[in-house]
Amino acid sequence: MPTFVWNDKCDGCKGGEVTACMYICPNDLMKLDTTRMKAYNQEPDQCWECQCCAKACPQQAIEVRAFQDWVPMGGAAIPLRTDTAIMWTIKFRDGEVKRFKFPVRTTPVGSIDPYGNKPGAGDINDQRLFTEAGKTLPTPAA
Ligand code: SF4
Ligand code: SF4
Repeated sequence: MPTFVWNDKCDGCKGGEVTACMYICPNDLMKLDTTRMKAYNQEPDQCWECQCCAKACPQQAIEVRAFQDWVPMGGAAIPLRTDTAIMWTIKFRDGEVKRFKFPVRTTPVGSIDPYGNKPGAGDINDQRLFTEAGKTLPTPAA
C-alpha cells in the first residue's frame, strides 16, 4: 500500500529543486509536479512503505496506506519527526486518537564523528574493513 500526498498540505517544499520527499525516498518514487507545485508518488506499486518520505515531509502532507495487519481500514498511523524525537499519531477506527513520542538521538545534531577514533578509517583506498582498521593484513600468496 503506497504513500499518497494531501494536496492541501503539500507546498512543493516552497519551490526547492529537490523536495524533502524526493531527496529521502530510497526508491526515487516521489516526484514534484512543477505546474501545480505538488508532489506525488510516481510509481505507487513500487513503494515499500518505509515511511521515510512521511517522516521527512515538513508539512505532514504524506500519508501511507499501511497494511491492514497493523493499521486496519479506517485507521491511520502518522509520524511527525523533529531533530530529536518522533511522534506517532495513531487514529483508531472508533475515532480514538493516541500519540506516542520517542527520542531518536542522544547527541546534538551534527556532533557525530563517523570515523570516531578508528585509526586509518576513512581512507578509501585502505582494503581493510572499517572495524579492521587497527589490524595488519596478511600478505597475499605469490
Ligand atoms: S516533502 Fe511534503 S511538502 Fe515537500 S514536496 Fe514532498 S509532500 Fe510536498
Ligand atoms: S514510503 Fe518509502 S518507498 Fe514509499 S514513497 Fe515514501 S520513501 Fe519512497
